[in-house]
Amino acid sequence: MGDDAVVRYSNTVLYDDHLNKIVGDVLIHKDGSWSKSNGDEDVIEEIDGSNRVLTRSLQNWHTHLAMQLNARDFSDGYPLHRWLNEAIFPTEARITPEFVRIGTSAAAAEMIRTGSTFAADMYFFPAVTGGVLTDAGLRGLIGGPVSDAALPSHDDAESALSELDHLLSQNNENDLVQYAIATHSVYLCSQETLLRASDLAQRRNGRIHIHVSETRKEIADCKEKNGLYPIEYLDSIDFIQPGTIFAHASWVKKNEIKIVADRNVTAVHCPSSNMKLACGGTLSFPPYRDAGADVRIGTDGAASSGNGLNMLHEARLASLLQRHDHWDSTLFPAQDVFKLATKGSKDWVAWNLDDVRMRPVGRSNNRHIANLIYNGGDCLDVWVNGQALRKNGATLTLDEHSIIEELDEAVQTYYDGLE
Ligand SMILES: [Zn+2]
Repeated sequence: MGDDAVVRYSNTVLYDDHLNKIVGDVLIHKDGSWSKSNGDEDVIEEIDGSNRVLTRSLQNWHTHLAMQLNARDFSDGYPLHRWLNEAIFPTEARITPEFVRIGTSAAAAEMIRTGSTFAADMYFFPAVTGGVLTDAGLRGLIGGPVSDAALPSHDDAESALSELDHLLSQNNENDLVQYAIATHSVYLCSQETLLRASDLAQRRNGRIHIHVSETRKEIADCKEKNGLYPIEYLDSIDFIQPGTIFAHASWVKKNEIKIVADRNVTAVHCPSSNMKLACGGTLSFPPYRDAGADVRIGTDGAASSGNGLNMLHEARLASLLQRHDHWDSTLFPAQDVFKLATKGSKDWVAWNLDDVRMRPVGRSNNRHIANLIYNGGDCLDVWVNGQALRKNGATLTLDEHSIIEELDEAVQTYYDGLE
């Protein structure tokens, strides 16, 4: 195994996929696996791991990355539907590929700085987003938007679908970035559009990403229009394909959770977005867990909602919110929520043990994960496929300084006349 080892961390602590703790010298391999080191294997790099703890990287399952461009307090205080209609959609009408490139670059820099290596994204100009993530060395499932509303990138759903058809035809499982189909929601997509997107997913073996049952208004409107709640409705028209991603899935009935589990849907809990937009409800973890459904965590976009892409913050909120909602302090201990926030990761992050927030490490050296989740951590190194995206606290694949300058400048033009 040693021949494909990229880096040796000596005298370190590593937590594996099951959060078993390994102490000593370890090798990180190009394919994302790890093994114990005898100290004599050929490696490209040697790192003193004595001030580091290695974990799998965080995985962000619901984002609108380029929305970094929308100032973080943009229309803060609006509820979801007013925020979309009065603040976001009018601004987004002027989005261009260049704005998306700049916003996504800032997002990629923030992901790397905070230890995330994957985003399931939904935004305009998906090929631009995909290009930025690929160049940054990050992974992504990049959903191009489909909706019946006029899109800044397309005249109608038809042309959005044909662009996606082309992008999906290029998906190669060895690439860091895969494309997906982002049907915005049941309130922005007609049944015909939903079904055409679903057909495309089936034909190209692509994944669908959709906002579902985020607010009480959305489910009441769907019930009135279709006689069914959103997940029941999507199931009744045979929209759901294996691997479909439901962002939020908050205002749901038990039979809808069963549909999520039975149809191999991934439901994404976005606690900060739901709380900041005062949705009054969020994904209720215990019934999803009991039904055997796949649940992940996501930050949502930066403009409203999460205000950032820090998945340690999001995991902390998930733990606190679920305990609070269910009056159950045993729910989501740090280890469980960390497993959920890193689920499926093939990548590695080294966190700084010289950061006081990571101390004390506990008498049996076992408090690393709890410290990370509840107190945050300083990300020193990030490894994806044997490439260091960040080392010793500096990002290598992006120039953070020039991204900051570009972002500030772009925001001036983007909002010109709106503020
Ligand atoms: Zn969203």
